[in-house]
Order: sequence, then C-alpha cells, then structure tokens
Amino acid sequence: QEGCDKFCTFCVVPYTRGSEYSRPVENIYAEATNLVNTGALELTLLGQNVSAYRSNILKNMIKKNVSLANLCKILSSLEKLKRIRYLTSHPSDITDELIEEHKTNKKLMPFLHLPIQSGSNIILKKMNRKHTRDFYMKLVSRIKNKVPNMAFSSDFIVGYPGETNEDFEQTLDLIDRVGFASSYSFKYSPRPGTPASLNDKIIKESVSNLRLKKIQSKLLDQQNEFNSKFIDKEVDVLITKKSKKIDQFVGRTPYLQPVHVFSSKNLIGRIFKIKIERLTSFSFHGKILDSLEI
Ligand code: SF4
Repeated sequence: QEGCDKFCTFCVVPYTRGSEYSRPVENIYAEATNLVNTGALELTLLGQNVSAYRSNILKNMIKKNVSLANLCKILSSLEKLKRIRYLTSHPSDITDELIEEHKTNKKLMPFLHLPIQSGSNIILKKMNRKHTRDFYMKLVSRIKNKVPNMAFSSDFIVGYPGETNEDFEQTLDLIDRVGFASSYSFKYSPRPGTPASLNDKIIKESVSNLRLKKIQSKLLDQQNEFNSKFIDKEVDVLITKKSKKIDQFVGRTPYLQPVHVFSSKNLIGRIFKIKIERLTSFSFHGKILDSLEI
C-alpha cells in the first residue's frame, strides 16, 4: 500500500507519495507464494497507511472487497508461512474485523505499531490526526480484551508548535495508561511544504530537548518492564542472521525483540523455541531447547 489520505499537518507523505493506492491482492499473493516457496517464514505487509488497504477479488463472477484483515487471512492459507505482520497503521482505520482476525489467526503476530504522536487532544487536533486520546485508549483496550497477549508500540512527537507543558503532561499520562512494549519518539522538526511548518508557535529547543529526554526515559522504563517478563520463558524465535561472535546467531520473537543464541550449526531461516536466560540493554540471550524446532 502506498500514499496516504490523512494529511497530518507535520507529514510530507500525502504530498510526496500521493493518495492511497493498494496493490491488487492477486499480485501480493503471487509475490508471497514465491517468497514462501523460496524459504520465507515471515512476511511484513508494508504501507504508509497499511490499515487502509483495499483491493477486490472476483469470486463466482462477483467482485468482493478485500481489506487488510482479508489479506492476512488469504496469505495465512500459505501453509509454510508462519508469521504475518503489517506496518504502519492509523488508529482510525483499525476495524473490528482486523481485531477479530488477530484473535483467530495465530499467524498474525500479536504486536501492533499504532502511532498516536501526542496524548493531548488539543495537539492531536492541531496535527489533524482525526482521533482523540480517548478514542486511542478505548481502541487499545478493545484490542486487549479480544487479544490479551497483544503488545503495542507507538510514535511520539514532542515540541509540536504550541505544545504547552500541560499538553506534554497529557502525553506522559497516556503512556502511563496504555503501557508500550517499545516506541519511537522524536523532537518536532518542520518539513517544508507541510501546514505545520508555517506555524510560528515554535517551541524553544531547550524545552523540546527536556521533553524528549523525559518521554524517552519513561518509554525506556516501560520497554524494560515489558522485556523483563520474558526472562526464564520459552519463546518462538525466527533466526534471521549471524551475530557478532563466532557461532552466535540472532533472531526475533513475535514482539520483534532480538534474541542471541549460540550454535555450531547454521540456524538461519528457521524458528526455534528458545529459553530466555538474560537481557542486556535491548537484546535477549537464550538457549535453544532440544528438539523443539517448530
Ligand atoms: Fe503521514 Fe501517517 Fe499522517 Fe498519513 S497517517 S499523513 S503517513 S503521519
């Protein structure tokens, strides 16, 4: 999926990539089949606003709409495919159908990148995000009710023009209420040609720096808290590449956490059950459990 019709005031995508366009489902299925037949176990469906994916398919001479949820279902029929992800979603486009698909489709990974950008309704409105903090929090709890093991990541912009201390506190409060597995946070910087770049209520650099430090410290604490729950647990890990040390490999959990393991055999491109033994900064280190290859 390419392009975006949302026109957030800070973003160049609608101007540089144009309006939303979805690749036909047949093309994606053909490419996915080819990738799976050549060994791919995991696919990530990419789009600037992937949750707005729309295609159609002919069934008994009748055109049927294909949503992102339908696309995930169709792709999961590829037997050798084990994991499906999608990126990036706009909260307003997450449908009940997609949440239901997460509940029933075990190949769809329980990790959702759901950018909110700010926890202040005033700033969200100025950003033209088309959702409120309440909408976002209700969406997260609706998803968690249906899919209890779902974890979330998000994007945050601090120092958006006109952001007051109170607005910023609202963002910190939202982070506390939601609880994120990992997140990206940035200091606002104007993108030429966007409406926000014409806004003259610029936040002082020193204030933005302080806010960024605060938000990153909170998000880091949450990430550590989320990760520490995995110590001593068994986790499915898709090994993707060699790591720095001899005989060391690295792979990803369903939540995209990196896991390092040692083996004298080549493990790349396979999924193993791994016991997580320790956590160093953002990486796990673990041990492959005997004969538990999936
Ligand atoms: Fe940009 Fe995302 Fe907003 Fe679209 S939804 S305008 S891609 S930030």
